[in-house]
Amino acid sequence: MNYDIAIAGTGPAGLMTAERASAKGLRTVVLEKRKRVTDSLMGELVTDKALKFLRVRPNSEYIGNKYTSIVGESLDTGANIVVGREQLGNSYLFDEDNCQELMKERAESDGAEFRFEARVKSVIKDNGSVVGLKYNQTEEIRAGLTVGADGSFSKVSETAGFTHPKWLLSYGYRWKLTGCNGVDPEVAYFYVGKDVGLGYLWLYPRSETEVNLGIGRVPSSKANWDALPPMQDVLRKYKNGHPETKDAKIESINGGVVPCAGIIPRFTDAGVSLCGNAAGQVSSIIGGGVTTCFHAGTMLAKHAARAVEDSDFSRKSIRKYENEYMKSKMANSITQTGKGMWAVSKFAMFNDPIEAAETVLGSLDARTLNAAIQGKMGLGEMMALLTEFLPMVMSLGKGYLRSIAVSGL
Ligand SMILES: Cc1cc2nc3c(=O)[nH]c(=O)nc-3n(C[C@H](O)[C@H](O)[C@H](O)COP(=O)(O)OP(=O)(O)OC[C@H]3O[C@@H](n4cnc5c(N)ncnc54)[C@H](O)[C@@H]3O)c2cc1C
Repeated sequence: MNYDIAIAGTGPAGLMTAERASAKGLRTVVLEKRKRVTDSLMGELVTDKALKFLRVRPNSEYIGNKYTSIVGESLDTGANIVVGREQLGNSYLFDEDNCQELMKERAESDGAEFRFEARVKSVIKDNGSVVGLKYNQTEEIRAGLTVGADGSFSKVSETAGFTHPKWLLSYGYRWKLTGCNGVDPEVAYFYVGKDVGLGYLWLYPRSETEVNLGIGRVPSSKANWDALPPMQDVLRKYKNGHPETKDAKIESINGGVVPCAGIIPRFTDAGVSLCGNAAGQVSSIIGGGVTTCFHAGTMLAKHAARAVEDSDFSRKSIRKYENEYMKSKMANSITQTGKGMWAVSKFAMFNDPIEAAETVLGSLDARTLNAAIQGKMGLGEMMALLTEFLPMVMSLGKGYLRSIAVSGL
């Protein structure tokens, strides 16, 4: 059978594309190398936007918890900053398995077909156009549009010939802990610290007795990475050093890699498009990819339906998705945070970013910090940052220039 759309991957990008494409009546097939859609990491902390895309309510079974505030804290000095709902809006912890099942069931009820234990090997090309996928040993599938939603090391991207500039990759590792003691379920924590390196450690409670404890870090250089303790050790030290988590059981372990350098230069071509991590559609400073995947998948499904209606899968037709996507606010924010991440990573090659982060936590107000994280710095916030942190900003500038000179960029 020939499909309208063949999607590689059942992360948030692939599932949202499948859900929306099948709802539009497209003959949809999804290939996933794992055995099932659940038990994988879909990201966890999200805001109202993600719930809107997913069309679920805050008090439904799809939400694991809701927070009243988020605390950023230094593990070394205890300096902290509290970001309340006024700055951040609402923050939630997804119930990942339920959300993934929901998207799969919606897609299936609209006729989508899922094939598990189907490992994509390459795209199939015909006359310069992608016309389908090869998977497992010898199996093949044909479709008008092929979508690479197969993550940071996308086979679709590699074999379709998209170029990836040197990516800043963030390595993430997470434990689900049960049997905790006296956790405040309303507050989520982000920690920076010398052991953490360029990234953060997080504690997202599900209840008084259950939390997600994770760490994500970017290796600014091999030497910097090698000088840090392994990520598991940093989590263990945190777990054992806090009365709430000391006696907890590690219920499950998960991890992944998130691109943090912004959107790749081109992610569409004749018969093919990338979506999600594969295209670098991730908010870089915090490594948040769920909402951005939902946004990209929704828009891609709309363009897929148009291409099917016009029977036009040419480069020009599929590129309309890329053009509309790149004009969106979400893409602009990803691009800005991506640039910020490059600057921070370069700064970290020659300076101590943790010291800088700890200075920020010690004295910056929550509104300014929030604007910086979201890549939305207005003139007011910029001035506040410049006057309060002039020495730090000057050293950041120097470190940045020096690293540019060394790397030749
Ligand atoms: C530890 C950690 C914590 C995170 N926390 C958050 C958070 O709190 N909030 C947030 O917004 N984001 C978070 N993120 C980021 C978010 O999880 C990712 O950006 C998002 O999952 C990317 O979705 P995706 O669908 O593009 O790719 P993925 O989620 O990576 O999914 C890709 C899918 O493709 C499948 N696949 C890969 N190769 C093949 C192949 N060859 N053939 C078939 N299938 C294949 C994989 O098995 C997988 O199911 C976190 C990431 C990590 C690692």
